Amino acid sequence: MTAGPEAAAPASPQPAHASKRGLKLEFEPNDPFRAELRKRVDEYFQRTGRPRQDCWEMYAKTVVVLACFVASYLLLVFVAQTWWQGLLLALAMGLCTAGIGFNIQHDAGHKAYSKHAWVNGLMAFTLDLIGGSSYVWRWKHAVIHHNYVNITGYDYDIDVGGIARFTPRQPQLPIHRWQHLYMWPLYGLLVIKWQLVTDFRFLITSALGPHELPRPRGWDLAVFFLGKALFFGWAFVLPMFFHPVWVVLLFYVVAASFLGVLMSVVFQIPHCAEQADFPIPSPKTGRMETPWGVHQVNVTLDFARKRRATFWFVGGLNFHREHHLFPVICHINYPALSGIVEQTCRDFGLKSEEHPTFWGGVAAHYRWLKKMGREGAE
Ligand SMILES: [Zn+2]
Repeated sequence: MTAGPEAAAPASPQPAHASKRGLKLEFEPNDPFRAELRKRVDEYFQRTGRPRQDCWEMYAKTVVVLACFVASYLLLVFVAQTWWQGLLLALAMGLCTAGIGFNIQHDAGHKAYSKHAWVNGLMAFTLDLIGGSSYVWRWKHAVIHHNYVNITGYDYDIDVGGIARFTPRQPQLPIHRWQHLYMWPLYGLLVIKWQLVTDFRFLITSALGPHELPRPRGWDLAVFFLGKALFFGWAFVLPMFFHPVWVVLLFYVVAASFLGVLMSVVFQIPHCAEQADFPIPSPKTGRMETPWGVHQVNVTLDFARKRRATFWFVGGLNFHREHHLFPVICHINYPALSGIVEQTCRDFGLKSEEHPTFWGGVAAHYRWLKKMGREGAE
């Protein structure tokens, strides 16, 4: 896992761009907001002595989440006798897999779990174990999404071809009039597509949307195939020794669809809503007119900040603005950083948007889908 992309926010004012094909995008280099925010956050860590990574709460959480995952798998495969027991346990599997994704692999993939590379590598491998390539994720999420969030034509997370229109800059098709209805079940297909299609297609094409990227080689390629082999082994082969093929496939679809909806919603509501901006590069200069730190604030919303259970389950992704500003800090620290971010935004006259609850965020995303399906391009 040595040759991977830089899975962190850029240390310099310009995003560290490593894509091979011409999508270099520069931001306004003068970023006093980001400089001041970093200073205040550094002071916080010095004053409190809190660790940025290797938080004991994170290690404890890892044990709990993995134990729940293993328990729900063993109960589903070896204990469940009736269809409703299977259904409930498949949903529990989806929930626990989301817990691994939101908490363990997401922090580790951003190098926020530990200051030791091998610990981050080991914990990031949990994504390979649950069926997604950690190599492809680092490019797709940690580099492309984090550097170019909400920029049409650059952020791959808001590009689903013509199936949906997420931004005012994308072309509108007649079918989009119903996207606020049909996108929810389609979100359920995200994980299945990722596990069975997207990763393998990347191996062949070495492209994610408009971005051409290096194929995994050596150790990264070995990890890719080892992860896929282990995933197909526990998810399909082993259960098929004990259950008919159609039963295994049915419960896989239930668990993976539930996981797909959960993941899509948690990652969509901080960015795809009325309150978020969707800026594009200046037609004159070809670069972003805002500095990188300000851009992150303008395009990202927190949600349900006061809900401790939500925070615990989604791995701090409800403090999404804090995550985008400080992706290499363990999410356990986000609630404490939130006040500093809030105050600094106020001092610099930046907006500070939040969905007060998770369901408020879901409703806002629904309204945004409806609006984008009906309103013409800007
Ligand atoms: Zn992230």
